[in-house]
Amino acid sequence: MIVAMQSQATDEQIQDVIERMVELGFNVHRTSGDVQTILAGVGTPGQFEVTEFQVLPGVHQAYRISSQYKLAGRGFRPEGTKITFSNGVVVGGKEVVVMAGPCSVESREQIALSAKQVAEAGCRFLRGGAFKPRSSPYSFQGMGIDGLKIMRDAADEYGLLVITEVMEISQIEPMLEYIDCFQVGARNMQNFNLLRELGHVRKPVCLKRGIAATIEEVLLSAEYILSGGNYDLMLCERGIRTFETATRNTYDISAIPVLKQLTHLPVVGDPSHGVGKRDLVPSMALASVAAGADGLLMEMHPNPDKAMSDGAQSLFPEELTKLVKKLRMLAPVVDRSIMPAVELAHA
Ligand code: PEP
Ligand code: MN
Repeated sequence: MIVAMQSQATDEQIQDVIERMVELGFNVHRTSGDVQTILAGVGTPGQFEVTEFQVLPGVHQAYRISSQYKLAGRGFRPEGTKITFSNGVVVGGKEVVVMAGPCSVESREQIALSAKQVAEAGCRFLRGGAFKPRSSPYSFQGMGIDGLKIMRDAADEYGLLVITEVMEISQIEPMLEYIDCFQVGARNMQNFNLLRELGHVRKPVCLKRGIAATIEEVLLSAEYILSGGNYDLMLCERGIRTFETATRNTYDISAIPVLKQLTHLPVVGDPSHGVGKRDLVPSMALASVAAGADGLLMEMHPNPDKAMSDGAQSLFPEELTKLVKKLRMLAPVVDRSIMPAVELAHA
C-alpha cells in the first residue's frame, strides 16, 4: 500500500499513519520530499480496508498495490488453468471451444434438434437454461429438472457436454447428475452464498460477468469459488449496462485481454447477450477469438422466431455453421485453433 500525505500534514499525523500501518503488519518505508511525505507499506498484512487510510487526518491519498484476489490472480498459476471435462474436452488450452444452443430448454423436440444442429456446426457444448432468470415474473421461467433430463439425453446422443444455469443453492445437488458445467448468470455474479457453495462441488463452473460489475468485482467473485477449493472455473464476458441503447448491452471485448492478463482462469465470450441482436453476433464472436477468448457461448435456436426467450439474438442453425467455419479460418491468426467437431457416428 502507498500512502501519500498532504503537503501540510504534521509530523504527528504522519506518525499516526505509520503506527497504524505497522499495527497491520506492514513494513513501512518513509520518503520525505520537499513538499510531501510518501509512506510505502510492504509485506503481507492481514485484511485491511484502504479506505480506512484515505480518511485518516493528513492523508492525501492511499492506494492498494497488491490485489485482493490471491487465488484468481495470474501469479497464482502463470501457465494458465486448463479445465478438463469428462469426455476429454479441455477449456483453456490452445483450442478454442464453442458452446451453443437455445436460451431456454422448451421441449424435448426443440432440444433434440438443437443438439443435432449444434454438433453438426462443430460445437462441443450444448447450452440452454432450464432455470431461467427473467426480468418479469410473468415470463417463461424454464422447465426445471425435467429440462435438464432432456438436455442430458440430447447431449449424449450427439457427444456434447451440457452447460446450464444454476440460480440457487438448492438446485446444485439435483443438477449434478445431468450437467457438465454450472453457469452462474450475470444476475447472480454477486450471490456470494451461491458462489461459496459452488466452491465445494467437484464440477466446473462458468461465472458470467454481472450487469454492472467491474473486472475487479468479477475476480473477487471468482475468488469465492476458488477459495472453496473448486479450481475448475472459467469466466464469461457477456456485456455490461452502459448509457448505450443501440445494443442490448455493451459487449466489453477489452475485458477479454484484460482478464487474460489479470487471471489464469479461462475466459469465454458471450456475444449473444453482449449485443442482443443476431446480425451483430458473428462479428463480435470473431472479435472475441481475436481478442484471446478461450471459448464462445452463443445462442442458436432451430426456429428463433418462435423462441420462448432471446429469439432476437439467437442465430439460425445455418448461421452458426457459417460462423464456426469463419472462426476456424480466423483462429490461426492469433495462434489458436477451434476445437474439431465431435465425430458423429450417425452423421
Ligand atoms: C443466458 O445465458 O441465457 C443468460 C440468462 O445469460 P446472462 O446471465 O448473461 O444474462
Ligand atoms: Mn438468453
